Amino acid sequence: MISTKEQALVKLRQKMLRAKLPLKDTALNIVFGAGSCDPKVLFIGEAPGANEDKQGLPFVGAAGKNLERLLALSELTRESVYITSIIKYRPPRNRQPTFTEIKAHTPYLTDQIRIIKPPLIVTLGNFATRFILSGLNIDAMATIPGITQIHGKLQLIPFEKMQLAVLPVYHPAALIYNPSLKTSLEEDFRTIPLYLNNPSY
Ligand code: URA
Repeated sequence: MISTKEQALVKLRQKMLRAKLPLKDTALNIVFGAGSCDPKVLFIGEAPGANEDKQGLPFVGAAGKNLERLLALSELTRESVYITSIIKYRPPRNRQPTFTEIKAHTPYLTDQIRIIKPPLIVTLGNFATRFILSGLNIDAMATIPGITQIHGKLQLIPFEKMQLAVLPVYHPAALIYNPSLKTSLEEDFRTIPLYLNNPSY
């Protein structure tokens, strides 16, 4: 039977498909998100790349392979978590999304968080970390410390009537360019089960 959360996410995806949004016209597919609709962890990246755009699925390229290896260290699988990004359509040539694009896509991520109510959010990379910790308010991002300072340190932030538990980690794609981050990423992913098994943070 289809759960209430799944129904709400299906409806939200349909609403997003109908909306006139920046980046939609140049993308092949929407990359809305995938995984369990009642997950242990919500993973949030920045924006889809070429492979994600082709398949309409998040983290299916080289960064996705790294993410899957890291998930195994957390005793998690793709099926037990939900994976999405701030931006749901690929920016051309993988350029950085603009403020306007981020602002237009944000309401859908906000709704995903409202529906899923994740016990733990893991932000993938500097941009997603600072954006989520700013309360999904790009205008407030300047005050948020960078990923090198806060990766692996659980952050609690008020968000509407919820308190979000957010664990910032380096982006799995960073390993492709900077293999020296491997130990740090692996250590941070190994802490995820500790937070899940002790949700009284
Ligand atoms: N990086 C992201 O942030 N999302 C993807 O889907 C792939 C790479």
